[in-house]
Amino acid sequence: MTLLDDAKKIEKQLVEWRRDIHMHPELGFEETRTSRLVADTLREMGIEIEVGVAETGIVARIGEGRPAVGIRADMDALPIDEANDVPYKSQTPGLMHACGHDAHTAILLGVAKLINDMPDRPQGEIRLLFQPSEEKWRESDGHSGGSLMVEQKALDGLDAVIACHVASTMPVGEVQVTDGFSLAAPDTFTAKIIGEGTHGAKPHQGLDPIWMQAQVVNALQAIRSRRRNPTERSVVTIGSIHGGIAPNVIPNEVVLTGTIRTFEEEARDEIHKLVEEAFAMVRHFGGDYELNISKGYPALYNDPSVAELIRNVGSELLGDEYSNEGAPIMAGEDFAFMTQKAPGAMMRLGAKLDDLNRPHHSPIFDIHEDCLPIGVGVLAESAVRLLKQHGG
Ligand SMILES: [Zn+2]
Ligand SMILES: [Zn+2]
Repeated sequence: MTLLDDAKKIEKQLVEWRRDIHMHPELGFEETRTSRLVADTLREMGIEIEVGVAETGIVARIGEGRPAVGIRADMDALPIDEANDVPYKSQTPGLMHACGHDAHTAILLGVAKLINDMPDRPQGEIRLLFQPSEEKWRESDGHSGGSLMVEQKALDGLDAVIACHVASTMPVGEVQVTDGFSLAAPDTFTAKIIGEGTHGAKPHQGLDPIWMQAQVVNALQAIRSRRRNPTERSVVTIGSIHGGIAPNVIPNEVVLTGTIRTFEEEARDEIHKLVEEAFAMVRHFGGDYELNISKGYPALYNDPSVAELIRNVGSELLGDEYSNEGAPIMAGEDFAFMTQKAPGAMMRLGAKLDDLNRPHHSPIFDIHEDCLPIGVGVLAESAVRLLKQHGG
């Protein structure tokens, strides 16, 4: 009997938890109902919990002393109107679990049950970290749920920390854990290019910010192709450009927004400088600019030895061909704050539902619920092995 077999026995319960949470989505730092469901369920299992960590987060401890291994789940939803016509459809208009955090929470409850019921659990502590607000970084205090959990010492004393994220494009039954940098640092920028408005037929009497913007976009795109080492992994994307009101009017200014994705801190700082340099070009034409780059989460670094341990568990439980390293993705994740605190890794859990493309953060996002017991089995077994590896 493996922990995956045990997980399959509670599949019905896992689906129930997931659907309950899915039907009642809540935004970051507002997960009061979800948090209550988690707290009540853990108390019923007889597990000791601490509530109100990072506001709506919960920390639960099974066992005590060293070694200590953490497992994290995020609980927040997104401001998206669900378009799926399913019995477990979101009951709150405008809100939806469109990233699968409902599944993560249900999976961690399943892990809690299995580990709590384990007769031969190794010495040490398994710490369950139910964190709020992965999606939302709060301007007022500069925190997401993950960084606030770290600041409030929820990860102190951990020898390792692990997590999983469902992947709606990966087949069910497959898991991936990438060594080293696996997800990027997602920074954003907003910029204004300032010219001087005038009649469209008399451009020489003003300074056209739309023309200047075209030069800047070209320079921004050359950062990756001409200024940085081509083997580096990074992205500069311009996501919006707004300027002008009429075909025969040159406006005063153009506003651009975009995102910068990098892994290494050196690349991050250097690309920020090159973005600044691209905008500064408008000063040569007599124009001006305002640029605000806002730093997002750090890049997610998977400790290679933790990553390998999870992959080995995946190979044993699912078969060699269903557990692999995959490749880095330029998306971001605030679990990155936790792997800065303790060596850790995040596993991608195959959760593809059907032939439709159901991207994360889209109104038709959904997962195959067969992934739930797989997530429980692999995470629980990995946590137990990490305890043993650290002398438990
Ligand atoms: Zn997301
Ligand atoms: Zn997510």
